[in-house]
Amino acid sequence: MSLSLDSPLTAVPDLPPRLVKVLEKEGLTKVAEVISWLPFRHEDRTRDDLASFQASEVPACHQVLVTKTGNKFFGRRGSGMFEAQVEPSAGASMGQLLTLRWWNMPFMSRVIAEGQRLIVYGKVKEFKGRLAIDHPEYEILDDDETQAIHSGRITPVYRLKAGVTQKTLRTATWHVVQALGDDFTADILPPASEAGEFAGWNRARALKTIHFADTMEHLERARRYLALEEFYGYQLRVVRRRRAVLESGGHAHVAGPLARDFESALPFEMTGAQKRSLLEIQRDMASRAPMNRLLHGDVGSGKTVVAFAAMLGAVESGKQAALMAPTQILAEQHFNTARKWLEPLGLNVALRTGTRAEEGGLELLNGKMSDKNHILIGTHALLHDADLVKNLGLVVIDEQHKFGVAQRARLIQKGNTPDVLVMTATPIPRTLTLTIYGDLDVSTIDERPKARGKIVTKVRPLTKQAEAAKFLNGQLEEGRQAYLVYPLIEESEKLDVTAAKKGYEQWCKLLPHFSVGLLHGKLSAEEKDFVMRDFRAGKLDVLVSTTVIEVGVDVPNATVMYVHHAERYGLAQLHQLRGRIGRGEHASYCVLFVPDKDDEAKSRLAILEETDDGFRISEEDLKRRGPGDVLGKAQSGQAPLKFAELLADTRLVRLARQLAEKTLDEDPQLRAPRLAEMRPFVFKEETPQAMMQ
Ligand code: ADP
Ligand code: MG
Repeated sequence: MSLSLDSPLTAVPDLPPRLVKVLEKEGLTKVAEVISWLPFRHEDRTRDDLASFQASEVPACHQVLVTKTGNKFFGRRGSGMFEAQVEPSAGASMGQLLTLRWWNMPFMSRVIAEGQRLIVYGKVKEFKGRLAIDHPEYEILDDDETQAIHSGRITPVYRLKAGVTQKTLRTATWHVVQALGDDFTADILPPASEAGEFAGWNRARALKTIHFADTMEHLERARRYLALEEFYGYQLRVVRRRRAVLESGGHAHVAGPLARDFESALPFEMTGAQKRSLLEIQRDMASRAPMNRLLHGDVGSGKTVVAFAAMLGAVESGKQAALMAPTQILAEQHFNTARKWLEPLGLNVALRTGTRAEEGGLELLNGKMSDKNHILIGTHALLHDADLVKNLGLVVIDEQHKFGVAQRARLIQKGNTPDVLVMTATPIPRTLTLTIYGDLDVSTIDERPKARGKIVTKVRPLTKQAEAAKFLNGQLEEGRQAYLVYPLIEESEKLDVTAAKKGYEQWCKLLPHFSVGLLHGKLSAEEKDFVMRDFRAGKLDVLVSTTVIEVGVDVPNATVMYVHHAERYGLAQLHQLRGRIGRGEHASYCVLFVPDKDDEAKSRLAILEETDDGFRISEEDLKRRGPGDVLGKAQSGQAPLKFAELLADTRLVRLARQLAEKTLDEDPQLRAPRLAEMRPFVFKEETPQAMMQ
């Protein structure tokens, strides 16, 4: 009788009962549980260079023989280290020496002993002519029987639970893989996927191969097959959701004379990219199917004006339009712009933010919120007012990356399928718009307004503040304004940072002829508003601030930005910050101050001196921080992907998309048995509550 996924581990031939017990203790009792515990990396233990040591920045795997061990102690406190002297256990380089070191782990002397053969993994470094690895991952190759599993092959390495060792798990997967037949599991992917790259592959083969592959090429193929499977699931979900929205019956909002009047009253001409994006939006809005569109454009590309023009389409159809911003400062800014541009057209604009409503401040500002308001502007506090949002024709969500999917879903529920436009300045690679934002259509503003002064960016040592103050003085005398950005509010011992408050005091002294304001996250909303209003009105020349100005703030007269301790920020964040200047006709200057000796920061930030192309900068960020980090955040609430790094593979993501579209064409309810397990994932309605967590 052949083994199945449901078989207990006790039924696996040759799997020692001792190991079965260990696995049971950790909750692993079935074949399926072992086979679905995927390795997170592999070591090619067939390579010749296992037998020679070389200092390197990348960790490598070596097979070694222990020749000497010992604990060394130093200092009175009894700190010390355990050292094992090793040499290659075979091959031409025998006699070459390497030291393995474990700090403050004297008990290692009971684990590692002379004469043992080990597989070690880690970065080899050189010091004083000796080669060493500190705290390597290691496996002891003890008896000949298991050695064939753990060495001389492409070896899987697993993330472990507490009680299971690498070798135990690997031994188990080995025996499970040997005992499973060629068709122990049905395919999830449709047969169409078996063309081209995946000819000859199926789920069973991919699963076996991802544990034990005979070549690196097969391993890669297996990884891609399983990634395709995973992406296929995501695509089924976004395509299904997208279709559900399209079928849910919205309203047609046709833009008329109002939108045209708006455009011709603008103090500037819209760029080609703005016009094109607006047309795409208006076309969507004119159709009865609800719009679900992402407006994507680098900082300063002019998304707001496109949004306002779009909102007029809803108003002309007798509906209200809402614009939501991630911060109060931004909501107020949009409100001011809307009043400036839209009230002359006879429209009634209202602002609603969290604090204002509670304190009744709204009435003071702009009459009472009601059906009479054509345009509603607010933070996401807007969402909490069901009455407010019942007549919405269009919802615009600014800086979507700060919002997350949850709020969007919530609004759609309350607003009874309005058209939705989300806007972001975060450059998102195409593959991600297909997955994470895969239920959205995308418009891109890939062109900046022409009449803009250029931005000069420099990385400078923190000690150059005196020169910086002199330069700033000059700019202020010409009537410009400046942002001086500090990373923290309070002086912190641990992080040696000159905090915003202290910076504020310093700059007040340095710039006696100008008015300096302070803005930080701990001010009340009202205080923030006042400061921001004064800065916008030119009553403040200089704004000392924390990163609360990071997104969206638009004061075209501001031409100087100094970022203190710029080394503490990510590239993308600095790019966003810098986007606060260079918004008017004057040339702008961004200076990134870093500690004098921080060469790493200087080289990392150099790209900002070179380019202001957000796309290039975010690619660089991605390269440096790795996809896991960037994706982790971007996905906001979704389970992390197992094969996230392959998301960069456009071809694979597109293939998944095509397969999903086809599947849903042929089988909209996903009744095919192969999809039984996928179905709940695809059809899960994310309630806002569940997604908020
Ligand atoms: P973002 O895309 O970063 O949200 P904004 O919408 O805030 O950018 O626009 C930045 C500034 O550029 C605003 O002051 C806006 O009025 C101005 N602007 C927008 N479009 C144009 C244009 N076509 N020509 C000149 N200035 C423009
Ligand atoms: Mg904006």
